[in-house]
Amino acid sequence: MAITITAVILVLYAIWALRRRGAGQAGGISRTPAKKACKWVETGHSKGRFVEFRCQTCGVSAMPHTGKAPVDCKSNLSG
Ligand SMILES: [Zn+2]
Repeated sequence: MAITITAVILVLYAIWALRRRGAGQAGGISRTPAKKACKWVETGHSKGRFVEFRCQTCGVSAMPHTGKAPVDCKSNLSG
């Protein structure tokens, strides 16, 4: 039964290939840099309905139109 032997070889090769791929993925996880969480605090300044917030982590200030602390940090934005 040559077909059975071929099937066994294919299964063994598939297991070997999956293990190789898994080892490669494990090495790539550390590439993502750890991101510091932003800590927004009200500065006390306000312009009409707008309240100014300041990120203590990045030192960026923002005046979101929502009146709440920004979700995304503005440090990646230029200007
Ligand atoms: Zn920030």
